Amino acid sequence: MLADVLPYLVCPHCGGALGQIGSSLRCADGHTFDVARQGYVSLLRAATSFTGDTGAMIEARAAFLGAGHYASIVRELLAVEPGPGCVLDVGAGIGHYLAAVLDARADRVGIALDAAKPALRRAARAHARLGAVLCDAWQPLPVRTGSAGLALNVFAPRNPVELHRVLHPSGRLVVVAPTERHLGELMSTVDMLTVAAGKGEQVSTRLAPYFTEENRVLREFTMTLSHRDAAALVGMGPTAFHTDADTITAQVLALPEPVTVTGSVTVTTYLPESTVPGGR
Ligand SMILES: [Zn+2]
Repeated sequence: MLADVLPYLVCPHCGGALGQIGSSLRCADGHTFDVARQGYVSLLRAATSFTGDTGAMIEARAAFLGAGHYASIVRELLAVEPGPGCVLDVGAGIGHYLAAVLDARADRVGIALDAAKPALRRAARAHARLGAVLCDAWQPLPVRTGSAGLALNVFAPRNPVELHRVLHPSGRLVVVAPTERHLGELMSTVDMLTVAAGKGEQVSTRLAPYFTEENRVLREFTMTLSHRDAAALVGMGPTAFHTDADTITAQVLALPEPVTVTGSVTVTTYLPESTVPGGR
């Protein structure tokens, strides 16, 4: 519920605390944000043309993740010990990973941040202790400074400055990023966007002034997928932005069933630096 995470949220205009009045959130300065019927709230600073993943991509993701094909990734996230504070998922999508962490940690509440309304409609009901918030990952996050004990960032964009600001000094950031081997079998047969080699190194380099790498594991796993699940896997990723569902289905149907696909990701845990450019 949104009410569970209110103490961790701030007004995107003035940074003030938010209270709930009826079906709105409001700060002391009178900035007001309507809670959507589906339970999420938009804390956008300004209107944005970026609306994130489409409804079709979200449906594909729910079907694929719901089947448990990324359980290996979930297990890695559960192994990370949070610091004091809430659990934040930046680019949370349907809240799949955050809900799993909250299931395992009964004393925590979680905030799902995403830019896509169709994702947040699902995230808002993914877990009883989860609040879903629409925001732009490239703007200041509507989250209180130092309030997150754990920040998840799974196949999603990241803004090092803001992640560092919202994380508790003893908190941890965990980033899941694909390697160049991820979904390799589909890359070669289906028109998928490829991952640049060495992406894992790039993530750490970009986070470097703000975070120190604590631990990195390479997790590889084999998925045995029906045509339906393989199509969902392609349809939930960036390929779906430039290829329609019928084309994806036709390309997947040309593959032998079941489709064997390699999952290959790095799961990297970072600690926030105590001193950073510009101060905390
Ligand atoms: Zn305000």
